[in-house]
Amino acid sequence: MDDIDWSDYHPETRAIRAGQHRTPEGEHAEPIFPTSSYVFQSAEEAALRFSGKTPGNIYSRFTNPTVRTFEERLAALEGGERCLAMASGMAAIASMAFGLLKAGDHVVCSRSVFGNTVLLFQNFLGKFGVETTFVKLTDLSAWEAAMRPNTRLLVLETPSNPLTEIADIRQLATLAHDHGALLAVDNCFCTPALQRPLEMGADLIIHSATKYLDGQGRCVGGALVGSHELLEKGIYPFLRTGGPAMSPFNAWVFLKGLETLNLRMRAHSENAQKLAEWLKEQSFVRKVYYPGLDSHPQAALAKSQQSQGGGIVSFEVDGGREGAWAMIDHTKMLSITANLGDVKTTITHPATTTHGRLTDPERQAAGITEGLIRIAVGLEHMDDIKNDLLRGL
Ligand SMILES: *Cc1c(COP(=O)(O)O)cnc(C)c1O
Repeated sequence: MDDIDWSDYHPETRAIRAGQHRTPEGEHAEPIFPTSSYVFQSAEEAALRFSGKTPGNIYSRFTNPTVRTFEERLAALEGGERCLAMASGMAAIASMAFGLLKAGDHVVCSRSVFGNTVLLFQNFLGKFGVETTFVKLTDLSAWEAAMRPNTRLLVLETPSNPLTEIADIRQLATLAHDHGALLAVDNCFCTPALQRPLEMGADLIIHSATKYLDGQGRCVGGALVGSHELLEKGIYPFLRTGGPAMSPFNAWVFLKGLETLNLRMRAHSENAQKLAEWLKEQSFVRKVYYPGLDSHPQAALAKSQQSQGGGIVSFEVDGGREGAWAMIDHTKMLSITANLGDVKTTITHPATTTHGRLTDPERQAAGITEGLIRIAVGLEHMDDIKNDLLRGL
């Protein structure tokens, strides 16, 4: 298997096969290497490894065979040369920032990114002299206006959470490159099963493996995917020194998750599409947000970037917060949790959870109304999901 070039194979095959290097034991499944360090044949070999003159394992903060298998498999799925696994999605984003940015650099970031990503750039990188401008995801002229001579990085998620707004990846990659900057896309909602931003010009992919890559809500992890140059020279030295490494056990769980990623993302999307179409017909629903609906304001752009709509559906019910909370509280089966990317369907009230720390005007500007409910559609039978939602009426 070591001599296979996975770019010749289909994504379904890469998800199952890429990155495995069998040991002399001939194991069929990927082994877990729960070891913190590695032994050398001689003092000289140790010296050569430590000096970087010969490649190989030294310590699991630097490299680990199970983690490497996960990295090679995810890189093969995203179509990137190199992947670095991290302890969490936020560790991946922090490592990107520490590896690539320095005091005096400027970042342009979508306003509709994961809350902790906003806090990281605003509160922590700000302390180190990196300034960030936040802009509306879908407003290209706002991105253009925010660019400065020292802009080094553009950061976004598409589709956005929870309103499923779509960023034009190709246009924003061109904008970044015209200014000598890099485009990083958090591909959490689609995963490489539905969307491959590197092929559209993005330079870096961010993942919270905690979500769909695991797919069953078991482990926290993250990753970055991109060119060898960017990851090896820019970010790996920080990972090795700063220490946000992924554990081998978690890497193994994510590997098992990747094997079913394509199947699951297709099933999540089919369920979500059905739910979104059904919600549109319900009298208690004012508005439905889902990229797979023809009524989505960016349906054509979504179709040009994603093969399917993904698993996240948001909708607005009558009655504001009271109406939304009543619907949530009357469900019996759905999990009331802000997490997503699980085979179990989750339901959440963004205005008082994920977006609760925003001020009222900020929330209104972002379109997060009191009646908004977000559903991360799982793989249960659709009729059971619908019936659970109808209990509160
Ligand atoms: C959850 C999430 C993160 C953070 O990942 P963790 O694994 O929780 O650290 C980053 N981006 C997006 C889009 C997420 O949903």
